[in-house]
Amino acid sequence: MSLDAVLSRIDSDLPAATERLMELLRIPSISTDPAYTADCDHAADWLVADLTGLGIATEKRVTPGHPMVVGHLDGPGPHLLFYGHYDVQPVDPLELWDNDPFDPRIEQTPKGKVIRGRGSSDDKGQLMTFIEACRAWKAVHGSLPCKLTFFLEGEEESGSPSLVPFMEENAEELKSDLALICDTGLFESKTPAIVTMLRGLLGEELTIKGPDIDLHSGMYGGVAINPIRVLSRIIASLHDAQGRITVPGFYDGVPELPDEIEAQWQGLAFDHGTFLGDVGLSKPAGEQDRTPLEMIWSRPTCEVNGIWGGYTGDGFKTVLPSEAHAKISFRLVGTQDPLKIREAFRTMVREMLPEDCDVSFRDHGAGAASMTETSDPSFEAARQALTEEWQIPAAYVGCGGSIPIAGHFQTILGTTPMLIGFGKDDDALHSPNEKYDVESFHKGIRSWARILAALT
Ligand SMILES: [Zn+2]
Repeated sequence: MSLDAVLSRIDSDLPAATERLMELLRIPSISTDPAYTADCDHAADWLVADLTGLGIATEKRVTPGHPMVVGHLDGPGPHLLFYGHYDVQPVDPLELWDNDPFDPRIEQTPKGKVIRGRGSSDDKGQLMTFIEACRAWKAVHGSLPCKLTFFLEGEEESGSPSLVPFMEENAEELKSDLALICDTGLFESKTPAIVTMLRGLLGEELTIKGPDIDLHSGMYGGVAINPIRVLSRIIASLHDAQGRITVPGFYDGVPELPDEIEAQWQGLAFDHGTFLGDVGLSKPAGEQDRTPLEMIWSRPTCEVNGIWGGYTGDGFKTVLPSEAHAKISFRLVGTQDPLKIREAFRTMVREMLPEDCDVSFRDHGAGAASMTETSDPSFEAARQALTEEWQIPAAYVGCGGSIPIAGHFQTILGTTPMLIGFGKDDDALHSPNEKYDVESFHKGIRSWARILAALT
């Protein structure tokens, strides 16, 4: 009954909530460009004022970069933390926008009403879904249902340089039972989803060196080792005929998919034909005994991202190069240890080197995968709440990319992250004409109200 009252309050307040979002969207808080530093500050002030108005003790906290907005409200357990970011991407190329990116408007499109403007989906619109849910709850009940912390960042779109130091310095203050992160999307723009698997990343660059100098292939070809040939053989050996990666020990820590997740993914009826067809492909090229969704979400990969050496300019040069180079990345899952894999990869390469060749490596970063334990009952409660709101069974999904904040909550704070978002594939994040569906905004707010009710 009381949840119904909150939901109807959300419905009747939607025009005002949309107006508040538009106000925040008018602040050009582009974090990467120093010309907008004052605007980032202004967006932080706007949020401090808004949260303070809800009775949440909120402060703008300085960092060497843009400020964090941190707010606390005491209350009965559990302690929920909410994370979002108020900064946005630059707007170039400006001429491709149909309107001023910072003069947002409501537009009627064939697919429904949208809010058009920079940050509407990523992440101001998403961030406001949670705040609006709290506002409606407070209007109906006079108070909020549990202990809450708001943690809003202003540097997410520029690499979050201050995030880890800030979390480390304020770990005690930010520790909570569950971190709700709203910066993701619906699966295939329709299925509500909780992201529970994020792949990690390991980057390596290698240089194979043969002769001291570039040689003439007429004089030395045949007798001198060619480092491009050596590099090609190494790269070709990284996968077997079934698409499995051959680095020794690579699959240590790669978990099998739990049965219930496998069943959910089957229920998603992912159409890999369309997914690959959109980029001119047809056949999944990963491990041949795995489904395409597994290949993207729950299996590790090894990809060559760049390869160069010798003469690649116009015309032709019969050179036998001194060096050959490649950049190789690995997406990691489960408890795969990036540092062990780096060592195993380097050892494998060294063992394949013929006489007269040397190899040097350059490290391009290493981060483990993060996987949340969905056995925590709050996950099932949130999933049910999403299912009720959207009238489509919500799913635990993976994410092929990496969302570092989720891992930071786990490793720095020991807090479980729960990633829920309402963006759609055609929101044009980071691109001209970014939009957020009014329906996503509305149902997003209602979803959080249901989740708050389910978790408290
Ligand atoms: Zn974002």
